[in-house]
Amino acid sequence: MPTRTQGTRLQPIRRRIAERTRVVLDALASGDHFWTHQQLYDELRTGDVPISASTVYRILRKLHELDQVETLRSEDGKLMYRLGNADGGHHNLVCRRCGHAERFILEALDQRAERLGRQFGFSDIDCRFDIYGICRNCRTPT
Ligand SMILES: [Zn+2]
Repeated sequence: MPTRTQGTRLQPIRRRIAERTRVVLDALASGDHFWTHQQLYDELRTGDVPISASTVYRILRKLHELDQVETLRSEDGKLMYRLGNADGGHHNLVCRRCGHAERFILEALDQRAERLGRQFGFSDIDCRFDIYGICRNCRTPT
C-alpha cells in the first residue's frame, strides 16, 4: 500500500504524464483528420510542454488500447490515428496529403461482407473500406 510520502513524490510525475496526454489529445481534437505518429510529434515538439517522439508513441498506443482513437493505414502503410473509436460501423474518405477524413456509411457493403463471412463460416465480421484522394483544401492553391 503506498504511503502518503510516496503519493506526494509521485504527484509531479503524474502531473507531467497528464499534461503530455492532454497536449496529444488537444492536437488530435484540433481537426477531423488522421495523424501519423511523426506528424503529431512534429506538431508538438516545439510546443510549451516538452515531449519526446517515444512519449507521443506511447500515449497514442495507450489511447488506442482505451478505444479513444481509431487507426487507419495510409496508402504507404503508416499507421495513422484520429480521435474517436472505430465501432461506429463507418468507413473513411481520407486525404492522402493532409489526413483530413470524412466518415461515411455503406450499409450494402457491410451487409454483403456479413453474408460473405457467414457463407464461409466466419463470425465477428469487420469490414474496412477506406477511400483515398486529395481533399478540397489541398487541391485549391492558396
Ligand atoms: Zn487534404
